[in-house]
Amino acid sequence: MDTRPPDPPGLMRSGRLLACACVAAMLVLPPGAVTGQESAAQTTSTLAIVGANVIPMTGSEPILRDRTVIVRDGVIASIGPRARTRIPSDATRVDAAGKFLMPALADMHVHLEHFDDPAYLQLFLVYGVTFVRSMDGRPEILHWRSAAAEGRLASPRILTAGPILDGDPPARSDNRAVADADAARRAVAEQADAGYDFIKLYTNLSLDAYAGIVEAARARGLPFAGHVPRAVGHARLLQDGAASIEHLGDFADALQVEGSALPAAAQGLKRRLAGEVDAKKLADLASMLAPSRTWIVPTQVQADRAVATPATLETWLADPAVAGVDRGMVEHYWSGSVVRAGQGLDAQGWSLVERGRANRRAVVGAMHRAGVRLLVGTDTPQPFVIPGAAVHEELAGLVEAGLSPQEALAAATREAARFVGQDSQWGSIAPGKRADLLLLQANRLAEFGATRRVAGLSPQGRWLSAERLGEMRAEVERVAAASR
Ligand SMILES: [Zn+2]
Repeated sequence: MDTRPPDPPGLMRSGRLLACACVAAMLVLPPGAVTGQESAAQTTSTLAIVGANVIPMTGSEPILRDRTVIVRDGVIASIGPRARTRIPSDATRVDAAGKFLMPALADMHVHLEHFDDPAYLQLFLVYGVTFVRSMDGRPEILHWRSAAAEGRLASPRILTAGPILDGDPPARSDNRAVADADAARRAVAEQADAGYDFIKLYTNLSLDAYAGIVEAARARGLPFAGHVPRAVGHARLLQDGAASIEHLGDFADALQVEGSALPAAAQGLKRRLAGEVDAKKLADLASMLAPSRTWIVPTQVQADRAVATPATLETWLADPAVAGVDRGMVEHYWSGSVVRAGQGLDAQGWSLVERGRANRRAVVGAMHRAGVRLLVGTDTPQPFVIPGAAVHEELAGLVEAGLSPQEALAAATREAARFVGQDSQWGSIAPGKRADLLLLQANRLAEFGATRRVAGLSPQGRWLSAERLGEMRAEVERVAAASR
């Protein structure tokens, strides 16, 4: 059973959205990036980030102290000791003394189809995220993808699935139902023609329809990824080379102690791994996943935020970052959903919520130790999974699971780039790489989880100061407040 809550209300997928996309895009661009001419001027400019402590994520030294990074035309030109690096006279100079410069972050599981205004895409930048993988396609997301890549829209770069392919009947009403292999092949061909980047699988697909998807996706050179269709099973997905499996919930049955069961009132917690986990089954699963080509995107933060007591809800609502989210969504969907998920739970039920959280850490830790390839993904905007901000929470969750801070950051940077076959272009700080750079006040290798405060961001070499990011945040908050 799919236990995901129904889609949030007020999701607009009409023609109105496209019209609004164009107007809003004009409003949200950073200064100097509105017209093609000005945007060209931006990308040919030179940027000098002076005196930063560089966390290169290249796998060699963890921190290079007091360096100056020169960026030309959006690409890292050089990294040298501050005292010995000449700053070009035409450079925009950023004083980064005492601050920490790392590759900007990627969120590899987002749902942009819930964004009824592209202004919200700025939230990712506000929190240091310059790349997102969209898990359900819409025509407007294809437009945003091009606009973002060309620097015409204040947005992270976007990679997007086509509309989710599911069985008949689908598990969610928005999913596209493909009843058999023929329908599946046609749907894949349409998505390939439309320019989507990969195919998203869902739980109700029949084995026949799934096989049609795999065959057509291979023929068109498209990766496939997503939920494990129940009729197929994860072993087959690994064998067929699925790019990734999302969330941990699809492994709940494979991990549960034989004969154990959750009380009836707590069945909703099963996909959040609240059942009793069998250590031997976990070891077997991890050693099956590790040598495969399939990556795992645990999205722990989505499960952590799925249920709350009224008191916990108050603390979540008090997070200043919530102000950046559509008011209607927070009040009518998020708040109701997390409280409803806890209704009917007794003391034992709430202890199972805690056990689920601990189990998720244990499962991710076991996968990591076995060598399973992990990515940072959040499932935003599921309840209280705030665009951009949630990436920092997911990173902290990976450290709780046993990854070192360096390994967790790699999962959101270098490994994300490797997953999409672009590690020669981004994901680490080295000459020749795209200048997707994140400047932080704090050293994320030492003060982990301590901060999501961004001191500056350079998506593709265009410098956004903390002040400019603050303006973006204020603008998103205005849009969010108006959408009640
Ligand atoms: Zn998702």
